[in-house]
Amino acid sequence: MVVGLGPGNRENFTPEVLAAIKSAQVVVGYHTYLDLIPDLLQDKEKVATPMRGEVERARQAVELAAAGKTVAVVSSGDPGIYGMAGIIIEVAQGRVPVRVIPGITAASAAAASLGAPLMNDFAVISLSDLLTPWETMLKRIEAAAVGDFVMVLYNPRSYGRPDHIKTAREIMLRYKSPETPVGIVRQARRGPEEKIITTLGDMLSHEIDMLTTVIVGNAQTRVEGDFMVTPRGYRL
Ligand code: SAH
Repeated sequence: MVVGLGPGNRENFTPEVLAAIKSAQVVVGYHTYLDLIPDLLQDKEKVATPMRGEVERARQAVELAAAGKTVAVVSSGDPGIYGMAGIIIEVAQGRVPVRVIPGITAASAAAASLGAPLMNDFAVISLSDLLTPWETMLKRIEAAAVGDFVMVLYNPRSYGRPDHIKTAREIMLRYKSPETPVGIVRQARRGPEEKIITTLGDMLSHEIDMLTTVIVGNAQTRVEGDFMVTPRGYRL
């Protein structure tokens, strides 16, 4: 089973995720994620792996499952969104049954804190170039900006490449106004949560790190009090 722990707090685990973890004999995951659920792991075998050890983590999990254990691989957010679901299916190659159990992804958690920025078409882009070539990402950022999508940026400050967010902003500014609302949410639903609503012009004067999701509006997105809203298009 590949399970999504959601953004971090227990209230955002779905009952299906809780049941899956409870039913597992072995829980496999990056140690930060295992640290979120110590009470659920008391009677279980734990396999804590380093941050970038995804392939090794997947192989270990599949071997344990092939040996007859019930294994839960935990990912943050939704395991099918920049999580472990893909690599587990690729490694398992049909040798063991795989079940993917969804979780609340960072885009949903951050959007909820900001109000309603994702009410119209949006594109999710990860600024980490560990697995996707930077040239491809530049093309995708530009295409989403040309299409006036609301843009959700995951991994906004890539390891060792702190300038990606600056480059992404420059590309977006070719097609979006500097007044475009931008929401920056750190540790959404994990805490202590920090939320800032700023503009594309000003966004870099705020701290953006790997625990942050950035949402850039479309041409209709506006600020209403403490909220960022992208109109769905209803006539009021
Ligand atoms: N599978 C995860 C995403 C993993 S990529 C999911 O579905 O949410 C890791 C990125 O997700 C982080 O760099 C950050 O941009 C975002 N993220 C994850 N949890 C977050 C949280 N609680 N608050 C804000 N952003 C978060």
